[in-house]
Amino acid sequence: MGPKVLIALALAGGLFWASAVLAGGNAPGPDYQKLREQMVYSQIEKRGVKDAGTLAAMRKVERRLFVPESYRNQAYNDYPLPIGEGQTISQPYIVALMTQVLELDGSEKVLEIGTGSGYQAAVLGELAREVYTMEIVEPLGERAAKILAQLHYDNVKVKVGDGYKGWPEHAPFDAIIVTCAPTDIPAPLVEQLAEGGRMVIPVGEAGNQNLVLLTKINGKVKEKKIIPVRFVPMTRENGSVY
Ligand code: SAH
Repeated sequence: MGPKVLIALALAGGLFWASAVLAGGNAPGPDYQKLREQMVYSQIEKRGVKDAGTLAAMRKVERRLFVPESYRNQAYNDYPLPIGEGQTISQPYIVALMTQVLELDGSEKVLEIGTGSGYQAAVLGELAREVYTMEIVEPLGERAAKILAQLHYDNVKVKVGDGYKGWPEHAPFDAIIVTCAPTDIPAPLVEQLAEGGRMVIPVGEAGNQNLVLLTKINGKVKEKKIIPVRFVPMTRENGSVY
């Protein structure tokens, strides 16, 4: 083959490659399952989360579908992301840690306060019998309800309203998870926690919050600090913070 033929072949190859790329070709997209497996291994298991159910749910739920399109390529990274309305979806590790401490076995009725994107609710939906989740910002609650319905999480119910007061119609709850931070633990939520139930909640002023695990045994509530955290504040319907 002379040099001219080689150049022509190289050009043709280049053109073919360019047109394939322009047309979207058959070039495979990112392997999202693999990205989730890496996320679970490097961010979650390595930091000590061991519960098999939690790890399986985190490998399964497509976090990227719960974040705005412009952030989808960062969905499996080790940090929180904006979801609009000044709110954020938590870092994957925090979602896993909070899920693990609830010790779900599939039989539970769970209450979540702070639906946000709906991602944590989907993870809970994989692991519990029923999930009731409340969001105070209407557009967020509506968007989360839509994506959860599209993904067939029929065991997850979303309600727009002030989660400080809980959801008494469905109480008591075997587990409660709060993903916005009040300065004090809301009494209605403690009341709505079932005997033997577990509640995980970030508590404290901005800049000085701790994740707390509450357990209710023989009607008595025990509190245990887990780690310092940073969550958005729990707000009232008028926008002031609790
Ligand atoms: N669990 C969410 C993260 C939510 S961020 C996820 O997986 O994406 C916390 C959310 O709590 C925000 O969307 C915020 O609007 C909501 N929130 C704040 N105060 C609230 C209240 N009193 N009742 C219900 N939701 C509240």
